[in-house]
Amino acid sequence: MIASRIPTVSGTTGRPELLLVLGSCLTVIAILSIVTFLLIREHANAQLDATRSATTIAQLIDADVLRTVELYDMTLQGLIAASQRNDLKQMSAQVRHLVLFDRSNTARFKGDILLLDAHGDMVADSSLLEPKAANFADRDYFQAHVGNHDRGMFISRPFKPRCDCADNDQWQISFSRRISSPTGEFLGVAVASMRLAYFEELFNSLDIGRNSTLNIINSDGLLLAQKPYLENDMIGKSFANRPNVVRLLREGNGSFSSVSSIDHQQRLYTFSRVGNLPLTVIVALSRDEVFGVWQRTAVVVSGATGVLCLGLLWLSWLLSRELRLRHRAERELALLAATDPLTGVANRRTLDQALRHEWFRAQRSGKPLSVLMIDADHFKAFNDRHGHQAGDDALRALAKVIAASIRRPADLVARYGGEEFSVILAETDSAGARQIAEQIRQAVEQLPLVAGAQLPVTVSIGISTWTTASEISLEQLLFAADKALYQAKDGGRNRVVAG
Ligand code: GH3
Ligand code: MG
Ligand code: MG
Repeated sequence: MIASRIPTVSGTTGRPELLLVLGSCLTVIAILSIVTFLLIREHANAQLDATRSATTIAQLIDADVLRTVELYDMTLQGLIAASQRNDLKQMSAQVRHLVLFDRSNTARFKGDILLLDAHGDMVADSSLLEPKAANFADRDYFQAHVGNHDRGMFISRPFKPRCDCADNDQWQISFSRRISSPTGEFLGVAVASMRLAYFEELFNSLDIGRNSTLNIINSDGLLLAQKPYLENDMIGKSFANRPNVVRLLREGNGSFSSVSSIDHQQRLYTFSRVGNLPLTVIVALSRDEVFGVWQRTAVVVSGATGVLCLGLLWLSWLLSRELRLRHRAERELALLAATDPLTGVANRRTLDQALRHEWFRAQRSGKPLSVLMIDADHFKAFNDRHGHQAGDDALRALAKVIAASIRRPADLVARYGGEEFSVILAETDSAGARQIAEQIRQAVEQLPLVAGAQLPVTVSIGISTWTTASEISLEQLLFAADKALYQAKDGGRNRVVAG
């Protein structure tokens, strides 16, 4: 009853703190979202840059390999053209050798260039004036052309030469073309071999960074070249059943990220088919290398953002705690300013505000409004007999009894001053007010006697009621209550008089 009339800041309590906490949480979410977005974009950029540079490396290798293979093809075509000259048989062995192999000198990492007849027997050898007796009918580069007119140039599997020559421990591949008669009859095969050291030299001229690899495989998944050498001599081995190789042979050109089945490192694979040749260049860049700078940046940025966000949340928590404490202090101050310190009921200031409020409310609603003026009887004499301390105790007991008689939330008990109290009874007519006043009077009378006293403390009560029928002002209402109180005093005290 008292608290409901006392001005508080409870209506606004909590909202600024809530807004502050909500605002800082939203700010933190916004900062985290922006940083996450930027990091994801930087990650994508790092991947794009790496793919671009890997594509450039693959294109460089493509161009060089294509040029080299073209040279071998020219050598083969020159050899085939020369082998079909009618005057070849009339030439001396030296001249015939010159005529057959004059276009072969330009090829890099050149191995033997051979001319085989329809049975696979060697009929000319670029390294010997008189070819040795040897048969290559079982070689894939011979078999590939026997029954196939339109094969064009065939690239063999990697092999090591059969000869006792210096190159016999070096991997080679051969380029071969079919020699056909004008009617399409199989006359033999022209073969040029190339040492795979060519790829090694080519790869060594390119810088790909740590933990990254370069590979060339043929269309059967056989490894022709690699950098660096991860295991001892993997050249010629088949990787056809490895998932990464299956995928890149199927797709031809492109890039993807995967784990190497050889050393189990995460790599970014960029691959491209070399022209129309059955060769695929694979540039596999280490993810650690590609994303190393990004990872370091991400750690620093995430750390700094985390500290910033935690700082922001901590500061807003401190601020919201301060606000909460301030609100509590304001509430306590407002309570103090609204209550009477001795009795704890509302003070005169609150009474005036509540009275005005209820007065206008009654004017609007047309419902009656009653006011009780309560005054302790012979209180001066009580003080004189029992002392001020006992007087204060009696005033506290009076306030308690009066407050206990009031039940409606809109009603109010206030200390008017000295030993006088006022009660506002909203929506209460004269009869109702008289009933409550009588109740108060009796309850006070029944309070326990103060030690040494023969008579109880009593109160006189004056009542005035505003109804729509009475044409009085608020001041007149109060005056009427005061007047009734004096009538009660005059009438002998310890009684209720309605004005
Ligand atoms: P009446 O019956 O006519 O009202 O007589 P009364 O003695 O009560 O009236 P009066 O106005 O002469 O005296 C009021 C007394 O109330 C004066 C003062 O001693 C006492 N009083 C006022 N305020 C306080 C207070 O806060 N504490 C105490 N102990 N006494 C108070
Ligand atoms: Mg008085
Ligand atoms: Mg009095």
